[in-house]
Amino acid sequence: MKGRLRSSVGEDVYSSWFARMDLESVQDESVHLSVPTRFLKSWIQTHYSDKVLSCWQAELPEVSRIDLTVRSPVRCAAPAKDVPAPVESRRDEQRPTAERSNGAVPVSASHDALGGSPLDPRLTFASFVVGRSNTLAHAAAKQVAEGRRGDPVMFNPLYIHSGVGLGKTHLLQAVTWAGNAGNERKVLYLTAEKFMYGFVAALKTQTSLAFKEALRGIDVLVIDDLQFLQGKTTQAEFCHTLNALIDAGRQVVVAADRPPSDLESLDERVRSRLAGGLVVEMAPLGEDLRLGILRSRVVAARAHHVSFDVPQPVLEYLARTITHNGRDLEGAINRLLAHSKLNNQPVTLEMAEHEVRDLIRPSEPKRIKIEDIQRIVARQYNVSRSDLLSSRRTANVVRPRQVAMYLAKTLTLRSLPEIGRRFGGRDHTTVLHAVRKIEGLVSKDTTLSDEVETLKRQLQE
Ligand code: ADP
Ligand code: MG
Repeated sequence: MKGRLRSSVGEDVYSSWFARMDLESVQDESVHLSVPTRFLKSWIQTHYSDKVLSCWQAELPEVSRIDLTVRSPVRCAAPAKDVPAPVESRRDEQRPTAERSNGAVPVSASHDALGGSPLDPRLTFASFVVGRSNTLAHAAAKQVAEGRRGDPVMFNPLYIHSGVGLGKTHLLQAVTWAGNAGNERKVLYLTAEKFMYGFVAALKTQTSLAFKEALRGIDVLVIDDLQFLQGKTTQAEFCHTLNALIDAGRQVVVAADRPPSDLESLDERVRSRLAGGLVVEMAPLGEDLRLGILRSRVVAARAHHVSFDVPQPVLEYLARTITHNGRDLEGAINRLLAHSKLNNQPVTLEMAEHEVRDLIRPSEPKRIKIEDIQRIVARQYNVSRSDLLSSRRTANVVRPRQVAMYLAKTLTLRSLPEIGRRFGGRDHTTVLHAVRKIEGLVSKDTTLSDEVETLKRQLQE
């Protein structure tokens, strides 16, 4: 039956749309088939329902109806065996001869089909400054970029997370540039939004086939800002893509602003698959690293503006005071450059203090983590962190636990169910109860409200 369909629609169409179609049952005159996503279902229904029916009728004349349903749940954690793996031979067989004759398909071709995200030529390994907070992420990214086609994949996916402006995009684009430089492998960089947009656009213009083909033909898929991936269909497609690529030994690199466990809108199976590779956090930039980044920015600026220079004391001042974000370091140098060019003046400390004063935000709120809350609350009340997560119900543990849940709700953006999970798998109603309880108490009990204030201050430091 599958063979008949395959020869009827052609190999390309078949492997894109029907490879994941399963037969559920045949009953009298109706055939029940299933596919893993709604997207596939609607596509097959609108474009191929007659084909499918006539193929069945050729074998079983009594069949008069095809029922197509979406299989659930999405089998993300299990290797997707029925999936056409993105193996090399497939590409070579299917590429039109014109493309095959000159070797690999040009990168831009797949970028077009996929709506690949534009790359910034400045974001390379050469301009990436390595320091204590990003050593591991840098080493892992380098390793990925230097991999050769066919090399065993060491960690898959590579998942990098950090707060904003700490170099995730820089590192991911560096991997893309370096990986594509050899022309041997194809590295595709997509923001999560582009990934989604690619699908929607492909659906509208009916080029999904090209999209899927292009996705299969790449060696390294790089996805930036994964926290923006939304929508059930896209998630299912992402999940499938992830499985297919990883199972075929292709590398996947992902960046997000939080660890996989905190990507609340994502399906549990996607989260666990993401957490199953190497997860690396990049810490805030240390002062040395900030100094290094400033220096490299000055060097880059001097390539076009030979007379531009920033004296050492100014660099040190900037590195000491602009603490939160790589983007502001870049902004500071740009302003000094603009100011000294326009006024034809050398850069001085006084000028720097004046020019960058709004970039110095001492009270920049920092990203507070549930683990930090648990650690600091445990220390304050002299219990252990595992006590807080345990099921013990003695008063000396219950109150600190409630305080910690309350702080988790008020100081982070985590949802009640997520907080419950992170406190030993409790129900969200338990968390809600704790939050209400402490809210009620702090308005009456000054000792407790002082304690809570102290804890907040410690956490925000
Ligand atoms: P993110 O994607 O984590 O929000 P970006 O990669 O966009 O951060 O980095 C913000 C800015 O800081 C960019 O201009 C980037 O080049 C710079 N930057 C961050 N970390 C480094 C680093 N280690 N070396 C050089 N530049 C860096
Ligand atoms: Mg980024």
